[in-house]
Amino acid sequence: PVVTRIAPSPTGYMHIGTARTALFNWLFARGRGGKFLLRIEDTDRERSTPEATEAILKGMTWLGLDWDGDVVSQFERADRHAEVANEMLAKGMAYKCFSTQDEIQAFRDAASAEKRSTLFLSPWRDADPADYPDAPYVVRLKAPRDGATVIHDQVQGDVTIRNDQLDDMVLLRSDGTPTYMLAVVVDDYDMGITHVIRGDDHLTNAARQIQIYTNMGWDLPVYAHIPLIFGPDGKKLSKRHGATGVDEYQAMGYPAAGMRNYLARLGWAHGDDEFFTDAQAMEWFGLDGIGKSPSRFDFKKLANICGQHIAAADDAALLQELEGYLAASGQEPFTDAQRDGMSRAMYCLKDRAKTLGELVEKAHFILAERPLELDEKAEAALDTVSRGILSELTPQLQNASWERETLEGIVAQVAEANGTKLGKLAGPLRAALAGRAVSPSVFDMMLVLGRDETLARLNDVTA
Ligand code: GLU
Repeated sequence: PVVTRIAPSPTGYMHIGTARTALFNWLFARGRGGKFLLRIEDTDRERSTPEATEAILKGMTWLGLDWDGDVVSQFERADRHAEVANEMLAKGMAYKCFSTQDEIQAFRDAASAEKRSTLFLSPWRDADPADYPDAPYVVRLKAPRDGATVIHDQVQGDVTIRNDQLDDMVLLRSDGTPTYMLAVVVDDYDMGITHVIRGDDHLTNAARQIQIYTNMGWDLPVYAHIPLIFGPDGKKLSKRHGATGVDEYQAMGYPAAGMRNYLARLGWAHGDDEFFTDAQAMEWFGLDGIGKSPSRFDFKKLANICGQHIAAADDAALLQELEGYLAASGQEPFTDAQRDGMSRAMYCLKDRAKTLGELVEKAHFILAERPLELDEKAEAALDTVSRGILSELTPQLQNASWERETLEGIVAQVAEANGTKLGKLAGPLRAALAGRAVSPSVFDMMLVLGRDETLARLNDVTA
């Protein structure tokens, strides 16, 4: 069975690249009946605040990337990491190194001055324990000196790193705490991770990590190192290009389903398919569809795909997401009356809104209260002539059956009687009902608002 994971280090916020990596792991596991686990790599105690961890959990939750089991804290597993290091020590696969930081630095300075390799090879590797001083030491892996370590990567192909280019990595620091390199391997092994899918900035780490697996006689996971995300200019995605935090995308009103769809397409492809559901993505996703070159973040494409997901969303679910968006962007929550209205209006708000913010804009007619404030365009549309024509609608609407066809008939008839076209009357009518030029169609508004509110709004501008 497949077991994948996302292993973010808490940095204070969830980067969009971490979200994409999480998504790939989630799709891969979910599409294969496997498990997707979450491990917080919280060994850097200064950065690993509860808030920083919370930001990751919030991002994952908003994106709908549910994980199996409990969140694993790497820091809390330090004893187990030390146990593995000590086991290697006992078996002669690791050794105590008493070289001090100063000694190592002096070696490096001299080597670089003489243009020799600065790779530090500890003099303690083959020392006799009888010669050990009573001094602090680190535990280093006794890595192979000859040959090469090959990473059989599902995305990058076979990547070979000569062993004489790798030093004997530190497993335990002099205070007994484990290094990142050791912790990752022990955690992945203990968690039963079968596939490590992560950013290609970790590719060379894989060579070192493989050496630990090999020493311990553990089966290697399948590796897939995915290219990083670039900005539209082909440089690594950063603040300069726009938002990089997942929370910012939520606050900008991108729906989670659209984000998942867009992020899935970022570096992975299934033919020409651009718009798809989670179920399709789970069925289609595989490591063979991941490209070798970095993908470029395209904000326009993101908005397009998000618009399609908003249009296709279930009304009730979309309303709930909208409430999450209001909270995330620091806007007032809906009153009960507004929520009722939104729920009735949702069907005509979904079209052509690329973000939830645009949807709220379109919903102004339902969120605003009488008497409506007219914006400049609405004011212009409601000239004296138009107001006069609108006033003729009122008696007809008073007794009409409140159905689309009847309403269309009445408006067309009044327009015609005044020698104008339905399209010409729609502008003033829209202005009266919405107070602005952006709204759903006038008939949708009339249906959603109902007879009393429609008549009251007409009365407000004609009386
Ligand atoms: N903690 C690492 C990061 O946030 C990920 C390590 C891994 O996936 O092996 O980049």
